Amino acid sequence: MIHYTLRCAEGHRFDGWFASSEAFGRQQEGGYLSCPMCGSSDVDRALMSPAIAKGGAEAAAPAHAEGAEATAPQEPSAGANVALTAERDERLRAAFAALRKAVEENGVDVGRNFPEEARRIHYGEAEPRGIYGQADLEEARALVEEGIDVLPLPILPEDRN
Ligand SMILES: [Zn+2]
Repeated sequence: MIHYTLRCAEGHRFDGWFASSEAFGRQQEGGYLSCPMCGSSDVDRALMSPAIAKGGAEAAAPAHAEGAEATAPQEPSAGANVALTAERDERLRAAFAALRKAVEENGVDVGRNFPEEARRIHYGEAEPRGIYGQADLEEARALVEEGIDVLPLPILPEDRN
């Protein structure tokens, strides 16, 4: 993980933690970064200014859960967990179906807003609750790199129809 001090177009400064500088670049280009104070997605890295003491009126608001490790940079593992099973495995299909049912019963469908809404919840800008929806592979990867736990929902054979 690397730490950047970020700055929005309004001049608000806040902290961001990223898996890598590339992860930061992707999130910035995708417009996924937003200022916790004004919501602006016009966010860039602030120039490091070690002479300025923290703790003033513009104290940085942590944009990530406390306790994030700044040391020991680690590349995220390249692959996601995958499994290959026979499509006819009824027990697995039943388990997948039960998982989806539980998610759908306990969560709110936010559709394509999922990445944005997941971030708002993660960063405390929205009420914590279960949500589900759609994210493409890049979006899901970016969420995971930000430390947001997302659970890929299995696709059931009947969904492919
Ligand atoms: Zn701002």
